[in-house]
Amino acid sequence: MKKDVLVVGAGFAGCVAAERLASAGREVLVIDKRPHLGGNAYDKYDAHGVLVHCYGPHIFHTNTPVVFEYLSRFTEWRPYEHRVLSFVNGKLLPFPINLDTLNQFFNLNLDEQEAAAFLGDIRVPLTHIKTSEDLVLSQVGHELCDAFFRKYTRKQWGLDLAELDPHVANRIPVRTNRDDRYFTDKFQFMPCDGFTRMLERMLFHPRIEVIHHIDFLTERRQFKYRHIVFTGPIDAYFDFTFGKLPYRSLRFEFIHHCDAARYQPAAVINYPNNHEYTRVTEFKHITGQPHTGTTIGVEYPCSDGEPCYPVPTLGNLTVYSKYGSLAARERSVSFIGRLAEYRYYNMTKW
Ligand code: UDP
Repeated sequence: MKKDVLVVGAGFAGCVAAERLASAGREVLVIDKRPHLGGNAYDKYDAHGVLVHCYGPHIFHTNTPVVFEYLSRFTEWRPYEHRVLSFVNGKLLPFPINLDTLNQFFNLNLDEQEAAAFLGDIRVPLTHIKTSEDLVLSQVGHELCDAFFRKYTRKQWGLDLAELDPHVANRIPVRTNRDDRYFTDKFQFMPCDGFTRMLERMLFHPRIEVIHHIDFLTERRQFKYRHIVFTGPIDAYFDFTFGKLPYRSLRFEFIHHCDAARYQPAAVINYPNNHEYTRVTEFKHITGQPHTGTTIGVEYPCSDGEPCYPVPTLGNLTVYSKYGSLAARERSVSFIGRLAEYRYYNMTKW
């Protein structure tokens, strides 16, 4: 196959790299071992005709106009602001924690100023934030940490909050106002026809060819390219020279309800405590699709399966940095995306 560039992996990073390179005049082959585009952002209509996110809820948000303008070439958008409730002490409370969460959780009637002072009283005054536990305790104190974060994190990662880098919990803001949106980015939209359709349009280019069902890692000897863009797990690329890097995975149970158009009051409900699963997503909230029934996805974190998240502990990040040094010496290969850079990226970096 005579092409200039081989892109390994047809997820977000791989698709954007392929499109950019093809538009710059390169002949590009994209390969993926899975039968579909989109990596973990893959969405499709289920057997009941409901558009579902096959690997869990993916919500597009960015503060960067150029990212939004670029993607707008490949999709129309529907405005969408993501909201999440957390099932705590038998109640559905707004999450991230905001003024209403505090009032409902502690049975208070604080205003914004009082809420800030209240958090000032209950937070643990830590000066050196070394872990996600330090971060959460320093923001909201022990009781809220235990109710909203500790067990969710244990389920999600199979690790304690204290073992994880602070940037994991730092994804979640704490607010003293009534803003109950999950994100505050300037651009919050969903692609009207879904992510897969958007990425299909991105790869619909005369200089791009896509082949599925090819596992680069087992068949790499047959590929001779001037340049490779690799978006898979970096430890596997280097044959686990420095040992295996863990990647957390997810298992989903999809349930269709044909007798009701709505199942739950928010797109996502988190179950931080006594449930085996972490969250339940009702996709129609996110996609806006009209349908007489509705489909939900129940999410169970696990260690085996398609890699979804790097696991940012100090030990893993140290091992990754060794792989990163090898990668930097590999002149004809670019390593990009969550799995190859071992970074907990959102769909967009910014
Ligand atoms: N988290 C938590 N409780 C929640 C939601 C999140 O403890 O109800 C923590 C947990 O460690 C999680 C991290 O915050 O992995 C980041 O959450 P986010 O919603 O960004 O996770 P993602 O959507 O990327 O899985």
